[in-house]
Amino acid sequence: LLLAYDPARRLARLNVNLSKGVVGVRLMYELIDQEPDLQQVENAPDLRVEAGRIELRDVQFSYGEGAALKGLSLVAEGGSTTALVGASGAGKSTLFALIERFYDPQTGEIIVDGQVIKDVTLQSLRRNIAYVGQDSYLFNLSVRDNIAFGKPGASQAEIEAAARAANAHEFILELPNGYDTLVGAGGGRLSGGQRQRVAIARAMLRDAPILLLDEATSALDAESEAKIQSALETLMADRTTLVIAHRLSTVRHAHQIHVMDQGRLVESGTHDELFEHDGIYRRLCELQFQNRIEAAQ
Ligand code: ADP
Ligand code: MG
Repeated sequence: LLLAYDPARRLARLNVNLSKGVVGVRLMYELIDQEPDLQQVENAPDLRVEAGRIELRDVQFSYGEGAALKGLSLVAEGGSTTALVGASGAGKSTLFALIERFYDPQTGEIIVDGQVIKDVTLQSLRRNIAYVGQDSYLFNLSVRDNIAFGKPGASQAEIEAAARAANAHEFILELPNGYDTLVGAGGGRLSGGQRQRVAIARAMLRDAPILLLDEATSALDAESEAKIQSALETLMADRTTLVIAHRLSTVRHAHQIHVMDQGRLVESGTHDELFEHDGIYRRLCELQFQNRIEAAQ
């Protein structure tokens, strides 16, 4: 009986291959009802989200050896879009994992609308956050069930409304069994762009005030890319969005951009402010976004 609570076994039953790192941890906690091994305040109140303002105060975090975040402070105002940019390993995904409380920082605090997230129930925190990842993982279940993960017990009408808003409804109807089509292990029967839209539908259904978005780096076909972009714009509206941004269009439209380097914030501002300043952001733009800047002008 005890084995029934072994997360690895439960995942195995669902044909999930755990990848390493934050993605694996996130999956695990999405699937198991058990709360992870985090300190819980007794009789903690639920998080009450109003504006959805997120503040990090001097957050330091280490997975074990070496610090992934070295004293990070930032504010994301309610309803605004904050872009995080920086090289691989800078700590961007770790920052998301801490906001979702997959881990607690060793020092410093994360505060949502004046409430330290460690002091509220984990469930209420997670209910208020939706996450869309780079190559979002799907379970080998029906498309319907994959979307319904966003809101257990959702009606077919709600699921369809979310799929429409995510530009996914049409392709789902063209699948052999529509919403009942099994997506295959890891969602392998769908294209990358289709998987992404199912994940967006899941987040739509969740309808959380806080959205964490890890933007895709991989090239999608132009049609998928345009559909995903417009679905994401719908999703981001009126939510506090933190986006790990790779597309210049996202970075440009963000209210605030933070450049991370080796666990630290090294530059913050709007696109215009940062571009004026001859720093890392400017170099990132010139290297990474060269072609797109030219295309946009
Ligand atoms: P980014 O998302 O900016 O690429 P990450 O937050 O993934 O950066 O990683 C920051 C640092 O933490 C890196 O040095 C990375 O190797 C390390 N790291 C990330 N996830 C884990 C993990 N689960 N266990 C140990 N180290 C990790
Ligand atoms: Mg990352």
